[in-house]
Amino acid sequence: VLANNVTALLQGVPATTLDQVENILKPLDLTDDRYRKVMDLLKQNLDEGLHPDTHANANVKCFPTYVRSVPDGSENGDFLALDLGGTNFRVLLINLNGMEVTMESKIYIIPQHIMLGSGDQLFDHIADCIFKFMCDHKLHDRTLPLGFTFSFPCRQIGLNRAILTTWTKGFKCDGVEGRDIVELLHAAIQRRGDMKNVHCLAVINDTVGALMSCAHSDRNCAIGLILGTGTNACYIEELSSVKTWDGDNNDPKQVLINTEWGAFGNHGCLDFILTDFDRSVDKHSINPGKQIYEKMISGMYMGEIARLAIERLRKHNLLFEGEGSYHLSTRGRFYTKYVSEIEGDDVDNFTVTKQIFDELELASHTEQDCRLVRHVCSLVSKRAAYLASAGIACLLNKMARKEATVGVDGSLYRFHPFFHDLMMKKISQLIRPNLSFKLILSHDGSGKGAALVAAVAARLEKKEQE
Ligand code: BGC
Ligand code: MG
Repeated sequence: VLANNVTALLQGVPATTLDQVENILKPLDLTDDRYRKVMDLLKQNLDEGLHPDTHANANVKCFPTYVRSVPDGSENGDFLALDLGGTNFRVLLINLNGMEVTMESKIYIIPQHIMLGSGDQLFDHIADCIFKFMCDHKLHDRTLPLGFTFSFPCRQIGLNRAILTTWTKGFKCDGVEGRDIVELLHAAIQRRGDMKNVHCLAVINDTVGALMSCAHSDRNCAIGLILGTGTNACYIEELSSVKTWDGDNNDPKQVLINTEWGAFGNHGCLDFILTDFDRSVDKHSINPGKQIYEKMISGMYMGEIARLAIERLRKHNLLFEGEGSYHLSTRGRFYTKYVSEIEGDDVDNFTVTKQIFDELELASHTEQDCRLVRHVCSLVSKRAAYLASAGIACLLNKMARKEATVGVDGSLYRFHPFFHDLMMKKISQLIRPNLSFKLILSHDGSGKGAALVAAVAARLEKKEQE
């Protein structure tokens, strides 16, 4: 089907042009062989992360999360949740009542100078936002358990103790790496002195939130996947396979593993599929050499990969008669949302595509330019979807459950017109034939998931006090 689409899309483009275009874009088009090799390598990397002898040097850390069971529907009460790590910072008030979940939330902007400032500034800002939220919702006289969805790699040493190993995506605040982020949050709350009742009971990764919130209604959910600003997955692992586990051995004998697969490839094992575009994206990022797999997949980088490929074609006089623009030559200016919009556009008139070209102040553009740019976008997003599929297929094969549901969240998966379909197709081809799976959009995992985990923690805390 897709091959036909390409043929239809590029119909009418002169053969000599097409040859040159394909030559430049070829490295983005990977064979199934390559995807299978990615799966094998990821399997090795996961094993290295899980084993104490290899964990220290492993790229894919496979952190045990201290979340041991999925919700059972008996979770009840009001909870506060924080969601930090994507495009937005949110504070949420969540009510759990059996299967019913209601929530109110507010988005607060984290200005760039805070994302790149000091850790104290960041946590003071977060505390200010919580305070404002509590005023708006008249919550100051209540003691509400708080769950914190903190979507960065953390070594957890307890359900509410999480040590940031390294910032990813757009964040780089001094003095937080190597520190327990709950301690930093509580210290900031204490500095204010006016929120004595706010206490963080649980820190979770957004992948865990996606899994928990999906598992709330689908008992088969065994993987949480994020395809947003960044990418990552978590899955349910047998306790006996987690040799790095140092928590208790009570039932259930399983634990959620936060793979942190974004770091896959950091030691060079994915170099065999990297293109010049990927190398350029990496080199100009705030974390060169890090998060290599993430940089080929996630929303923070996809638009830039497409821009670099478009610029390469343009410089070879294959687009826009060779004429670029200030915007098109600016890093980060071709947004990932453009990729989704262009691929969702109507090929009979390319209205949206042309509008984007105008926004980029491209002096002249033809229908052929529209077709070729769409082709670039679909190659870049297809590779991303297939790479993520290789990751999921690897986890599904490893878990070997007859039926498994993957709870997925993130702006890329949500807004790209074909990401879901591309993944369904590729995962089906890559998994063992006796396995079946579903990909389900996880609604508000970061908020709901944090509340669900905090609910379990609150129940345990109460039990201990009795
Ligand atoms: C972070 C993960 C997170 C993912 C998706 C990555 O950059 O390291 O912890 O789950 O982004 O938000
Ligand atoms: Mg998010």
